Amino acid sequence: MSAAYEPRITVVFRPEIVAPLRRGYSRSPCKPALWMEHVRQTPLGEHLDTLADFEPITTALLASAHTRDYVSAFLTGKPRGLAESSGNGWSAGYRDSVLAKVGALLAATQHAVTRPERIVVCPTSGDHHAQPSRGGGFCPIAGQVIAGLELFRTRGIATAWIDTDEHYGNAIPDAAAVCPEVGQAIPLNINPSGSGAAYLASLDQGLSRVEHALVTGSVGLVCVGHGADSHEWDALGGSVTTAQWLETARRTYAMVARASRRLQRPVPIVTSFFGGYRDDDYASVLDLHVADVAIARDVLAQARTPFTPTVSPPHPDTSGATAVHPR
Ligand SMILES: [Zn+2]
Repeated sequence: MSAAYEPRITVVFRPEIVAPLRRGYSRSPCKPALWMEHVRQTPLGEHLDTLADFEPITTALLASAHTRDYVSAFLTGKPRGLAESSGNGWSAGYRDSVLAKVGALLAATQHAVTRPERIVVCPTSGDHHAQPSRGGGFCPIAGQVIAGLELFRTRGIATAWIDTDEHYGNAIPDAAAVCPEVGQAIPLNINPSGSGAAYLASLDQGLSRVEHALVTGSVGLVCVGHGADSHEWDALGGSVTTAQWLETARRTYAMVARASRRLQRPVPIVTSFFGGYRDDDYASVLDLHVADVAIARDVLAQARTPFTPTVSPPHPDTSGATAVHPR
């Protein structure tokens, strides 16, 4: 088999994965629809196919990553404090959108291993801070854990997560602490630390661990969560410049391309859109995510998309608007 990826990209999306209303600080629950609208106005838009044939996750899948009490609270809205523990509020409509968007991530991982020559995009976020017994940091449900466990149980394939959000993704280690199978299903959870050149050096160390795991067969799927909040001008972030943010994407996908050449087959890959908080200019967040996918397409499918993201400096009136715990 060739190591080549197709130039067309699969985006897992349907409107049900979008929250009906923004109720908290984070705009991420609405991001999939905002991004779909945004990307269609860029040169990348014509290279996307939509995969809409997927289901919300079941209660049994919810329970694979969360305690009975939290599952009950999230499904019923009671007790309110626990149901709203992610910080995104709670409504029946929001709950349903979360169940659907975790279903999208699960479908994305399954599609990637079935059609590894396709780059798969899941335009969702809000997974990596959820704990077994509660939500946290704008993340109600541990979608990474649910999708990883399901792939491992149904296909025997382990996942490596490359989490280049600004904030450490605790969901996987927190779940593994109470369910050791999570450690087998998702043996690598790479979170670069530091800022600037140190961030990129830390990324390189993590990427070499993932590459080794791929070529030795201990993981079979790479998932990327490239948060726009690692950008220096994000309201809740700040680690890297625009050039370094783009370089993070380039190095990540170049590692996947290298592993694919060594294996002589495309490595299944899913990329998703973790945090990004720019109330002053949300187009900056959406543009960074477009750039991320364009770089994946360029590096993996050798299909260049003429696109340069426009990232605006913070508006002076909102630059201090960070009185929220960073996530
Ligand atoms: Zn974050």
